[in-house]
Amino acid sequence: AIPLVVAINTSLAARNGMLVRDRVAMEEARNLDAIIFDKTGTLTEGEHGVVDMATVEGVDGDEALSLAAAVEGDSEHMIARAIRQAADERGIGVPPAADFEAMKGRGVRASVDGDEVYVGGPNLLNHLNSNVPSALRSFADEAGENAQTVVYLVREGDPIAAFAMADVIREESYRVVDALHDLGIEVAMLTGDSQDVADAVAEELGIDTVFAEVLPEDKDKKVIELQEQGKLVAMVGDGVNDAPALTRADVGIAIGSGTDVAVQSADVILVKNNPMDVVRLVKLSKASYRKMQ
Ligand code: ADP
Ligand code: MG
Repeated sequence: AIPLVVAINTSLAARNGMLVRDRVAMEEARNLDAIIFDKTGTLTEGEHGVVDMATVEGVDGDEALSLAAAVEGDSEHMIARAIRQAADERGIGVPPAADFEAMKGRGVRASVDGDEVYVGGPNLLNHLNSNVPSALRSFADEAGENAQTVVYLVREGDPIAAFAMADVIREESYRVVDALHDLGIEVAMLTGDSQDVADAVAEELGIDTVFAEVLPEDKDKKVIELQEQGKLVAMVGDGVNDAPALTRADVGIAIGSGTDVAVQSADVILVKNNPMDVVRLVKLSKASYRKMQ
């Protein structure tokens, strides 16, 4: 009888915009203890427009923005697009750059005018062993409290400017967290973004567990951390960086258009890019299970 029920389950799922790649995972969804969500683009809109910037003394705002846009010239990251767009909107010329290097989960690097220039977040500063200069600290603190992502411009080892990007919590995310709590499921969030941004989003949504400033290669370790507490864990994400965590999770859920890598690492694909479908998936799994009794 079980294969028949599973078959009903998957076609029902398909009608709800859920593509089931692993039927066992779909059945397991009814027993989930915790669900980990990627932050950017999953719980938030992921539209990173530059809303504010600060520079150290002696560095002009336009100069900093043009340098940052040059370094971001080769990157497809949302942050890169936002910086290039900000330079474009202000009509600032962008100098040529060479030797582009993407540093996964940290930022980007390039040579501009013979200088080694980086743009990236707190993970980049840690990697370069540099601290946020006092001239940029209060700017970064305030932006973080407002859940704005901050990236730094580093020239020849010195952080010389900071850019704040706005992101917006998705309307559906509030209901998702409440509904999962009603089902007795712990809600966790996983991000490469800074601790203060993650905390601000988590507090706003009532999220139970926060993993911030996590490098791409460490994301699956956070899944394991919860599994080692005896929990059955789902991961919801869309990016290349989320793939190892999706594979590691008991139920890996790719959401939205997703990247090919994320889709291929997932057990279930939510085609509509609505995080509320995660709740529907759990409920569908529970309902199907009851029919089997
Ligand atoms: P997430 O976990 O939110 O999907 P990523 O792993 O893509 O984020 O990036 C984590 C962090 O690395 C970003 O918040 C940012 O600080 C930094 N970063 C990544 N790519 C870039 C880039 N192209 N330019 C500047 N910073 C970047
Ligand atoms: Mg992401």
